[in-house]
Amino acid sequence: MTTQLAPNPRMSRVRQRDTAPELVVRSLLHALDFRYRLHQRLPGRPDIVFPARRKVIFVHGCFWHGHNCKHGAVRSLTNTTFWDSKVTANRTRDVQVQQKLQQLGWRVITLWECELKEPEWIERLLYFLNDD
Ligand SMILES: [Zn+2]
Repeated sequence: MTTQLAPNPRMSRVRQRDTAPELVVRSLLHALDFRYRLHQRLPGRPDIVFPARRKVIFVHGCFWHGHNCKHGAVRSLTNTTFWDSKVTANRTRDVQVQQKLQQLGWRVITLWECELKEPEWIERLLYFLNDD
């Protein structure tokens, strides 16, 4: 294994893609006439909020939130400990946030960046939104 001292190029790429998956979800909701709000003052600041339905959506990037997929499993060769602890902290916080929201009566769905590349997530999301 080689150790590189150059800055990790992943950072800038991930940051750009950070919002793209959320836009995919929002444009679908918009097309289907679902009315939502963004980033309400709720635990974890959910990406998309349906106040009347008491439901929230998180759209998570696989790398930052440590998804159990090939994208989430990718780790930088440099600063491994730093990134690992960051991702671990994110995962821990995600779990806590979800529990807190559920205690407050919110229902939560998490959509993963990788998931949005296949059409199945749409059905999963619609089921979540229409289920009472
Ligand atoms: Zn993933």
